[in-house]
Parts: sequence; structure tokens; C-alpha cells
Amino acid sequence: MKSQRVEFLKQSDIRRMTRECTRLDGINLGQGICDLPSPPSILEEASKAVLADKSVYSKFEGIDALREALADKLTRYNGLTQVNPDSDIIVTAGATGAFIATLQGLFNPGDEIIVFEPSYGYHINAMRVAGVEASTIALTGPDWKFSAEDLEGARTENTRAILINTPGNPSGKVFSREELTVVADFCKKHDLIAITDEIYEYIIYDGREHISLASLPGMYERTVTISGFSKTFSITGWRLGYAVAPPALSEAIGLVNDLFYICAPTPLQHGVAAGMTRIGDDYYEEMSRDFEKKRDLICGALSDAGLTPNVPQGAYYVLADISSLGCADAKAGAMHLLEKIGVASVPGSAFFSESSETQLTRFCYAKDWATLEEVARRLKSLNA
Ligand code: GLN
Repeated sequence: MKSQRVEFLKQSDIRRMTRECTRLDGINLGQGICDLPSPPSILEEASKAVLADKSVYSKFEGIDALREALADKLTRYNGLTQVNPDSDIIVTAGATGAFIATLQGLFNPGDEIIVFEPSYGYHINAMRVAGVEASTIALTGPDWKFSAEDLEGARTENTRAILINTPGNPSGKVFSREELTVVADFCKKHDLIAITDEIYEYIIYDGREHISLASLPGMYERTVTISGFSKTFSITGWRLGYAVAPPALSEAIGLVNDLFYICAPTPLQHGVAAGMTRIGDDYYEEMSRDFEKKRDLICGALSDAGLTPNVPQGAYYVLADISSLGCADAKAGAMHLLEKIGVASVPGSAFFSESSETQLTRFCYAKDWATLEEVARRLKSLNA
């Protein structure tokens, strides 16, 4: 049985490929699990908080110490100087929880949000459960460029917002200042809200800069900035994220967060708040450099195997063209790779709402070096 609201929902290909990978005992470059070691300071501080029995509900918007640490980080890293930690930050059950609370708090059934594709499928499905339609703009790699005309073409009288995911999953696109300025002008012209998912904000390559849309002139008041700690600290299972917005938007987000979740896990909030103060900028820089080298390794191995990669500019996924495998579609291609060389990926069709014609598949390289080197060897064997 399924309610009408979720009638269309199926298990995501991200989850399905993890199960297939376990069944076939493969290496999982499908789901963005990120099983790299977490910073010891974060683990130590969370353990201390658990042992100190910091076990009860926090405020629905999160503990003060974490919101204060975040306000500081948002000023320094994201250029959001006007964040009031008392009213503008809601700590949530992962970035996903922040997105759900934003949708439920700010949008009505029938509203439309513009989304660039390829896109993270959970975004569009969460919108559909909320009765919100996606108006999609399909981009093509490796640059995933768009124009002001594309934005105008996607807008209807029901359009209320635009969703920006930078660095993007699965494309690895990093929006430049010029592109974000086009988005900002569009939002201001048509009085739209912007929702940004910046969960990969610290994973950025080739000297690029992460730019938060809310830092552009006139954008803070109309933007919900979403991020979290999953990817930055390799704590994807802790489910800790946050939304940042001015009070006119954050009030409803906070009310829904209370209603749906009460609060994010309290001892883990303490762990991250205290741990963050022990982590210097070098941690983030080193993480980015390490992922950049891993990107180069995996992209090189994919190229050599004839699976042309769309070289990512950030995040830790790569979309590769698998048409040389001669499979009917991306789903068949991803399964072929898993069966033949024991490497799981996610078929690119999972990231487009309409076309399932794509021959792209997504590999996640948030893995240790030994695993990636083994993947490179296995990719090489495809040509043998
Ligand atoms: N964001 C991660 C991905 O894209 C994990 C999400 C999930 O497990 N659904 O793979």
C-alpha cells in the first residue's frame, strides 16, 4: 500500500546499486557513502558528549554553541556577514532534513521550482512528495553551461524558486560568480526564492572558489542556504545539516523542523560544535587536495578504459560516458560493469527526470587510495 503522495516513489538507483554491489561482493563506487576516516577531534568530542549524558532534546533550531560556530564559519568561508545565529540558522537532520523542512515550510502544492539536470534525484522526489513540481533545465557536460534565456524558458506563472547545487551532485559543476550573478538577477527580476544545496562546499578543484549565492548583493534576503557536515567530516550517518535564511524564511523552516524531527541528534551537535573549534583551515584545504588527486586517478583510469569522464570541478563524483561498452542503456551498462569487473556505479538515468537515454554512469571516489587503485586495475582489465 502507498499513499497517493508517494505512489510514484521507488527505491532509488543509489540504494539499489548498493544492494546489488553487496550481493555481488563488488567495490561500491555507487552510493556517496564516504567511508573515509572522520577527524579524531570530532569523534572525541562526540564521545565526550555521549558520556556526559548530553542526551536530551536541544532547541528545535539546534544548540547555541553549534549555531554560533556556524555563524562564524558562514561569515569567514561563505561571505555571509549578516547571519544572526539566534534567528537565521536551523540545525537539521542532514541537509536532506533542511531541504524537506524548506519545502514543507515555504511552498504550496502546485508551486514550481527550477532545477538543473543532471540533478540529485532526492531533490526532485522530495519536491514531488510536497506537491511541488520541478521545471528542469537539462545541461550537458563537461561544462554544464546555461544562459539567462534557459532560465526564462523554464519559468512559468507557478515558478516560485530555483534550486542551485554547487558543487553539484552528480556533475561536479561549480557555479562561477558570473553564473550565480545571472541566477541572482533572474531571482530579483521575478521575485523568486533561491535554495542552494552546498553540501560539497569544501571539495573544490583547480584553484576554483566556492561561492554562496546568498553572498551576492540583494540575495541573502531571498535565499535558503543549505549545507551540512556529512561530506566535510565523513559523518554521513550522523545526519547533521543546517539551513540558513533570514527570519522571514527561517521561521517556517524551524517550525517544520520541530514538527518533523524535534531536533537534530543533541550529543552529535555537541561533538561537531566542539570538534569544529579544533579543526584549522588546513584540514579543509588538505581534504580538497586529496580529493583532487583521487579525481585525477579515477578520471585517468576511466579515460584509459574508453569510458570518457566529464572531469568534475568539485564534489566527489564523476559522470563517465559508457557508450563504448555497447549496452542498451545506463542501467544495463552499470550492471555490466558490476558483473564484469565488480565495480558498482549509479546509472546516469537516476539523475534525469525524463530522458533515460543517457549513457552516463556516476562513480563516487570518496574512497581510500588502495580501493581506488584496485578500481583502476579493474578498469584496465576491461580492455584486456
Ligand atoms: N548523497 C549521496 C549520493 O548521492 C548519498 C545519498 C543517499 O544515500 N541517498 O550518493
